[in-house]
Amino acid sequence: MSETKRTGLVLAREGGRFRVATGEGEIVAVLRGKARRDAHDRVVVGDRVVLDEGDAALGIAGITGIEPRRNLLERRTPRGRGNRPVAANLDRVFVVTAAADPPPVPQLLDRLCAIAEANEIPVALVVNKTELDPAGAEALAARYRLASYATYLVSARSGDGLERLFAELRGRESLLTGASGVGKSSLLNRLQPGLGLRTREVSERIRRGRNTTVAAAIVPIDGGGWLVDTPGFSEVGLWGIEPRELASCFPEMREPLERCKFPDCTHRTEPGCAVTQAVAAGRIAGERYQSYLVLLEELRSAPEEWE
Ligand code: GDP
Ligand code: ZN
Repeated sequence: MSETKRTGLVLAREGGRFRVATGEGEIVAVLRGKARRDAHDRVVVGDRVVLDEGDAALGIAGITGIEPRRNLLERRTPRGRGNRPVAANLDRVFVVTAAADPPPVPQLLDRLCAIAEANEIPVALVVNKTELDPAGAEALAARYRLASYATYLVSARSGDGLERLFAELRGRESLLTGASGVGKSSLLNRLQPGLGLRTREVSERIRRGRNTTVAAAIVPIDGGGWLVDTPGFSEVGLWGIEPRELASCFPEMREPLERCKFPDCTHRTEPGCAVTQAVAAGRIAGERYQSYLVLLEELRSAPEEWE
């Protein structure tokens, strides 16, 4: 028996089974031994797992451990009731919107950005359908550049801007999220014909099978890298961000919030608040600040709904 460790990439979870990509192709695996005890419910897409020889006759291998993770996107639950991991080892979360049809919902975009920030995963904004409203697309992107985010103005229809975006996806490990209809599948199909379609099939299957909002599946990109498709990522709440943590999930607020007069400043109406001063001075976009206020209220008033 070979001494070299056999590892694989978890592509999807289907009940108690995992689809795992290995050097020799895709296999099915189940948790075994210590991994079964310790990692139950903790193995997620994007995880690199250690595999045993498995049962060749059944075509099922055992997962005996998880390799150390670079990061973990998780849905945190309040009051220490345990976090729900979604995907591991991400280079970046791409928040996708359309310039129009459907109209952008800044508050949803800011919510998705904040979730990724809370998990310390870099975020970028993709504005698709730019040909429908070039000026609106640019204004939207400007707001996020002010927040220090990389922005990609693209049109899956005309092809504008796609190469710059695809160069960021190839060879990397990314998660795409955004409201339905913004053009995620269309973008994936331009990146790699058939990709968006497959993504959708897998996620529908998992959604039906598990009746959950957090199941996710991975699609490898030809030539390297992969993408995570997360059904329902946009429907969940703020994943247990503490109200006092929220401002630091808005990168453009980090520097001013250090200078607020009161250390427990909520950046609403307190005197000597450097955040509201930065909003007045145009260094923080008004819409982003409005999203902060709405999300803060949500966190303060309805913690139970996070479950
Ligand atoms: P998803 O739900 O985010 O995966 O969105 P889809 O990829 O299914 O796209 C939703 C609709 O928007 C489809 O009718 C697409 O043809 C259309 N669409 C996608 N990209 C563009 C674009 O760049 N411009 C325009 N005008 N329509 C687009
Ligand atoms: Zn303040």
